[in-house]
Amino acid sequence: MGRIWKVSGPIVVADGMRGSRIHEVVEVGEQRLLGEIIGLEGDRATIQVYEDTSGLRVGDEVLGSGKPLVAELGPGLIGSIYDGLQKALISLKEDLGPFLKRGVKAKALNRERRWHFVPRVKRGDFVKGGDVIGVVQETPLVEHRIMIPPDVRGTVREVRGEGDYTVDEYVAILDGGQEIRMAHEWPVRRPRPYASRLDPSNLLVTGMRIMDYMFPMALGGKGAIPGGFGTGKTVALQQLARWAQTHVNIYIGCGERGNEMADVLKSFLELKEPKTGRPLMEKEIFIANTSNMPVVAREASVFLGITMAEYFRDMGYDVLLVADSTSRWAEAMREIGGRLEEMPGEEGFPAYLGSSLSSFYERSGRVRCLGNPERIGSVTVVGAVSPPGADFSEPVTQNTLRIVEALYSLDVALANRRHFPAISWLSSYSLYVDDVEEWWRANVGPEWKEMRNRALKILQEEAELQEIVRLVGPEALPERDKLTLLIARMIREDFLMQSAYTVDTYCSPKKAHLMMRTIMAFYDKAQRMMEAGAQVREIQGLPIVARIARMKEIPNEVFEERIEEIWAELEEGLVIG
Ligand code: ADP
Ligand code: MG
Repeated sequence: MGRIWKVSGPIVVADGMRGSRIHEVVEVGEQRLLGEIIGLEGDRATIQVYEDTSGLRVGDEVLGSGKPLVAELGPGLIGSIYDGLQKALISLKEDLGPFLKRGVKAKALNRERRWHFVPRVKRGDFVKGGDVIGVVQETPLVEHRIMIPPDVRGTVREVRGEGDYTVDEYVAILDGGQEIRMAHEWPVRRPRPYASRLDPSNLLVTGMRIMDYMFPMALGGKGAIPGGFGTGKTVALQQLARWAQTHVNIYIGCGERGNEMADVLKSFLELKEPKTGRPLMEKEIFIANTSNMPVVAREASVFLGITMAEYFRDMGYDVLLVADSTSRWAEAMREIGGRLEEMPGEEGFPAYLGSSLSSFYERSGRVRCLGNPERIGSVTVVGAVSPPGADFSEPVTQNTLRIVEALYSLDVALANRRHFPAISWLSSYSLYVDDVEEWWRANVGPEWKEMRNRALKILQEEAELQEIVRLVGPEALPERDKLTLLIARMIREDFLMQSAYTVDTYCSPKKAHLMMRTIMAFYDKAQRMMEAGAQVREIQGLPIVARIARMKEIPNEVFEERIEEIWAELEEGLVIG
């Protein structure tokens, strides 16, 4: 046991801490505030305290726990709303805080609730880390697979029969006497092990056309959404957490405003999962560490979230984790670093900014899981980045760019024009295009990549033509360039623009593809008409142009049938006049 020597904001220095370890969790002061040792010199420990330190005094006790910061993993995670230390946030007040008294060591999982356990092993079976020994239907959408913890192995001496148990009761005992429960703890800073890493090969279906069609995210991929204030980061991440075709989604609200987070939560409570019609909360986990909560816990919230994501990945699931905003976590690092009087790096951020960010993003991936039966799981990570003044040259954006493989770059000018999602088609990219090509071929149609590239090329040409228009005016352009501008406008307005608040909020890949095919079919037709002497001015006044503009309003389920009418009109030939 040690004693406080100095308090500086969230940082406490304590004496008499010999025998402690770096990253050990400690309890500080009478209220037993949770902290973590981040520096040790002799018997003096530097501790970052995860809770409000007001009232702490020199001489107060500091107790070691002998353990690092852990997540409790087991049935009951789904549908929960936690803070960065995995305390359950039970009330949903307007400003989201303060929910619990400081220092209250509430357990993360419900202790009373009984879960219906169905065993999958029998006495005498040899089991090792990752083996599924039973299942619990945690929610109608998620079957929780009870696994042997990664570091454990042995022969089953006893396994409980099908029945209802709490997370504190054992469900199996191994020959060494070790009891296996439905929940176990895992250090949040330690990546959970897997059998082997696999290449990404499947599309993460998001329902957002600019992502799925133009800059696809792969299951197990990593991406970032940088953007200035009000450009649509939060809406984009919400859309992902709502509609992504995954088994489990985790939403981390990190350092953003509490009332905004409360709105996000409320909207989720009312929404239904599109495929099954089940309440969306049956596959979601929320971690809320809003701006009014202690800054040190922002880092904890990020690692808590990724640990939970790996845990469900290990069951053989596709998990999406979104974090809004990683910049607030970086700002917390800067604040702590400043108080430690470390040598600052760029713009006051610590020199380890890049390695911290990558220790988070690098835990994404698609893997062959440990244990039997064989399973493949994935963690996809998408983080928002909030560069001050939308200046992407700042350190957090730049460091993130070096790590991620898909970038969704939000453009202030687009947001101002109310082109949403304001993801720029000129400065965004995805390195997963070749990886997911086969997915598109097998699930939707063989010409996806060709169409995608053609559409991007037209948008590129538009950007070049606009330069000329600025100089000489639109009338000076030849007809074929005018047609390019018309088609580019259709791609932007009729395809890329997608409201989060209408029937168009979730667009199936099939609908996206048929929409693009319609625009391209119109393009081909218009070219032929032009060759036959029609003017672009006349072509753009055709009623079919307005019909194409409204095709996004057609629901996914009836799209294929309804689009036939437009195609029939294109076939029959368009008549000018
Ligand atoms: P940020 O988190 O980047 O500050 P928000 O995500 O809160 O920005 O978005 C700001 C506003 O932009 C939203 O309140 C909404 O009006 C509009 N917006 C963003 N994305 C969309 C979208 N896909 N559809 C419709 N409106 C959007
Ligand atoms: Mg926001």
